[in-house]
Amino acid sequence: MAYDLIIVGAGPAGIFTALELLRRGSKKKILILEKGQPVEKRRCPKAETGRCMNCKPYCHITTGFSGAGAFSDGKLSLSCEVGGDLPELIGEDLAQSLIDYTDGIYLEFGADEHVEGVGHSEEIKEIRKRAIQAGLRLVDCPIRHLGTEKAQQLYYAIQCYLQEQGVELRFGVPCTNLILDKGVCLGVVIEEKGRQEELRAEQVVIATGRRGADWLESLCAEHNIAHRPGTVDIGVRVECRNEVMEKVNRVLYESKLVGYPRPWKNKVRTFCQNPGGFVSQENYDNDLAVVNGHSYKDLKSDNTNLAILVSHNFTEPFNQPIAYAQKVGELTNMLGAGHILVQRYGDILDGKRTWQKELSRSNLKPTLKDAVAGDITAAMPYRAMVNIIEFIKMLDQVVPGFASTETLLYSPELKFYSNRVKMDEDLDTNVKGLHCLGDSSGWTRGLMMASVMGVLMGRKLAQKEGLELPRLP
Ligand SMILES: Cc1cc2nc3c(=O)[nH]c(=O)nc-3n(C[C@H](O)[C@H](O)[C@H](O)COP(=O)(O)OP(=O)(O)OC[C@H]3O[C@@H](n4cnc5c(N)ncnc54)[C@H](O)[C@@H]3O)c2cc1C
Repeated sequence: MAYDLIIVGAGPAGIFTALELLRRGSKKKILILEKGQPVEKRRCPKAETGRCMNCKPYCHITTGFSGAGAFSDGKLSLSCEVGGDLPELIGEDLAQSLIDYTDGIYLEFGADEHVEGVGHSEEIKEIRKRAIQAGLRLVDCPIRHLGTEKAQQLYYAIQCYLQEQGVELRFGVPCTNLILDKGVCLGVVIEEKGRQEELRAEQVVIATGRRGADWLESLCAEHNIAHRPGTVDIGVRVECRNEVMEKVNRVLYESKLVGYPRPWKNKVRTFCQNPGGFVSQENYDNDLAVVNGHSYKDLKSDNTNLAILVSHNFTEPFNQPIAYAQKVGELTNMLGAGHILVQRYGDILDGKRTWQKELSRSNLKPTLKDAVAGDITAAMPYRAMVNIIEFIKMLDQVVPGFASTETLLYSPELKFYSNRVKMDEDLDTNVKGLHCLGDSSGWTRGLMMASVMGVLMGRKLAQKEGLELPRLP
């Protein structure tokens, strides 16, 4: 075997696998393959040009060492209730202990000691009371906020550590396929300088993130890797003035609210709240432009943004959630001539599009400067749109002013976590020697949970190597 372990994808899931193996004293020969660049070379040209340049062959926001973590807001959710369904697989107690342990690693590499969303018990009670009255559930979730710029420094420190400890990191190298024989994974195929090459390994970990979700789905179909279609989230990024969100921002930093609006009672939730943050754009390899949001530790805007997401599941005859969400995204991109569309909430209720000149009449100025004013309702499926409108009305009872005329809705906000790979609690798939982690596995949806899944993988592999495991706190 050329390698003991090949990890495909240097996002949090992949790098924490390697990190935990090193912490356990592993002597494995480890290779991490990453199709993007080292963290210090990742540059989004938008910082200079002010608009998305649709970089090829990949978008720097999501691709490169630390994956989608590098330009993220760097909010580490410290509760196992948030960040994906891994607790269903391994149990809540283990998931929570691993979060506490992994949080310790983030602190060792320089994360801020301060935790948001703790204390303020009287004010939290008041927010919860309003949520109950509105028919919403408030999920308690302490947050450690790295901030985009600090997240990059922290992941750079991890990158240096891995290299110093002898982990081989190969950048600019996409993995194109797996090598399988009689239900056993023997390695991977990579593409370098236009040439395909086979690399052999005893164990292969696929951790390719949301962007790699459809690629992994095609691998599952080609190699009979057991999986089932998962959920896809379709929604909008909402932006309003900090004044409107002031209390929630101060007391909770991130309000995790879940509701089931009438008439369908689908799950609708808030996600990724960025006080003083900026709405951003990310581009997928197939030219799909989707909206996201982040915030810096020091540089603050006058606005707060958060996502409102509607969960979608399919059964039969159609069961391809990724394809469904992509179509919604393509249609929205078409209406925005390739840009993110933005519309005022009041215009949606009035049944009219928003015009660019109308945006400047509000208190609220969009932080995504190249978003195009238009009509998101022309592309959003009816059911998703009604769910979003009803949910905003509910949220307005918790945060008065949230449903104001000038509140901005950006679209499309899509979260591709689907195609849940079937695994046991040792993170083994039905293919011997193959493991799937993080967002691309369908089990996680956030930095902390993806990191936790990596730590767990590291421990399982260390166990196989006969190394001692630490006692959990
Ligand atoms: C703008 C933005 C803000 C976010 N903010 C937050 C936040 O504040 N808090 C939070 O919890 N989560 C946040 N997230 C989500 C979070 O970043 C992800 O959940 C997390 O990074 C998932 O980790 P991962 O390791 O599974 O995958 P990723 O981080 O996506 O990493 C996967 C890596 O695999 C590489 N790759 C893909 N395919 C291949 C291939 N074929 N060959 C080689 N390499 C490949 C990619 O280049 C990438 O580097 C944010 C995401 C974005 C985009």
